[in-house]
Amino acid sequence: MQPLIYTSDTLLTTMHLPKYRPYTLRNFRQLPQMAQLSEEQLFAIEVVGRVLPFRTNNYVVEELIDWDDIPQDPIFVLNFPQRDMLRPQHFERIATLLRAGAGEDEIRAVADQIRHELHPHPAGQMHNLPALDGQLLHGMQHKYHETVLFFPSQGQTCHAYCTFCFRWPQFVGIDELKFAMREMESLIEYLHRHPEVTDVLFTGGDPLVMKTRILASYIQPLLDTELPSLQSIRIGTKSLAYWPYRFLADDDADDLLELFGEVARSGKHLAIMAHFNHPRELSTDAARAAIGMVRETGAQIRTQSPLLAHINDRPEVWAEMWREQVRLGCVPYYMFVARDTGAQHYFSVPLARAWEIYRAAYRSVSGLARTVRGPSMSAYPGKVQVLGVSEVDGDEVFVLRMLQGRDPDWVGQPFFAQYDEDAIWLDDLEPAFGGEKFFFQN
Ligand SMILES: *Cc1c(COP(=O)(O)O)cnc(C)c1O
Ligand code: SF4
Repeated sequence: MQPLIYTSDTLLTTMHLPKYRPYTLRNFRQLPQMAQLSEEQLFAIEVVGRVLPFRTNNYVVEELIDWDDIPQDPIFVLNFPQRDMLRPQHFERIATLLRAGAGEDEIRAVADQIRHELHPHPAGQMHNLPALDGQLLHGMQHKYHETVLFFPSQGQTCHAYCTFCFRWPQFVGIDELKFAMREMESLIEYLHRHPEVTDVLFTGGDPLVMKTRILASYIQPLLDTELPSLQSIRIGTKSLAYWPYRFLADDDADDLLELFGEVARSGKHLAIMAHFNHPRELSTDAARAAIGMVRETGAQIRTQSPLLAHINDRPEVWAEMWREQVRLGCVPYYMFVARDTGAQHYFSVPLARAWEIYRAAYRSVSGLARTVRGPSMSAYPGKVQVLGVSEVDGDEVFVLRMLQGRDPDWVGQPFFAQYDEDAIWLDDLEPAFGGEKFFFQN
């Protein structure tokens, strides 16, 4: 068994510390592992990768993917586009263009069209733009009372791209949809005027793709300004899973850990909202060492993931992931339902099944892992948790509640929907007992 806590000494003497190398459509065929795939599979990657963002890196390829288990290996599916992720008619449109040797512009235009059909801004993201003196703040989102999301303009990419991800606008250059804000001044002014906001959540993309120097230019002003109502700075990131060397070996890794320590010393809580989709991502020396180093700074790591067909749709996978997270000192936080966009037909798990998976996993772990809440849909009215399936007066119903609501009064209120074994999202549900509307609809 490997040690859980690494010191800089054991790191330097025992670990291989590679440099980051991305693989995209441009160079993935150079990977020696591609020799295992048929020409048809390689072509499918090229077709689907035109529509869904495709990027992986040397750590994912060399340390995470099990090449003896492709094509169904969950990490392979998580990074490499698969044929069935596009509807057959969409696949054929791109495939036909590629086979005919069409020009880049033509292919891009068709890919953009398909992306728009796949619904790039679900759950009303464009409706939550806050304003200062009538001026819309494009790099922010304030949907829930106590938390403001902030999208640093330089953090709109990731060390690798998840094939299920719906945040394409940031990655694929549909500029008018891009959320970004260059200045912190408006955020600070906004926080002064909105003392109800206790949390700022840096998100993206992955904000830890930024150089520490740039990240510090976003975080430092929050520490240097008198903001008594600000309690927590959160950073949403997949770096611990996709590039743990960000914390161990990148040129500015030490500065990053130092910045984290500074937040803790300032008296604010630093919460790393870490995305882990599969227990394999917690199994490498590098990931464990990075988790240990981050925790030593005083930051707390909370974990979240969507539930995804082909990747983690079995209770044992979740139970193992939560157990391992607790053992490594992380706090399981959310299990999400795959949202109604992108390759949802490929990844979605019906709500009834999602609840079964959640419950079976929850039952088999200790109370320390039962901090996790789910399955939760981040829908337009709020985050809706499926509490379970029950029977009331002979009617089978879903019992639900809102974990977060556009209206803070909605939070915690249980409600009922007709049972529907095929429903995959809130929009598919009807109120139970012949009701016309859910309490949050008007
Ligand atoms: C999930 C989420 C948050 C944070 O909610 P918590 O329940 O406090 O973690 C904030 N804003 C938006 C838009 C969210 O989806
Ligand atoms: S790391 Fe997060 S933002 Fe980046 S592709 Fe994956 S889910 Fe999307």
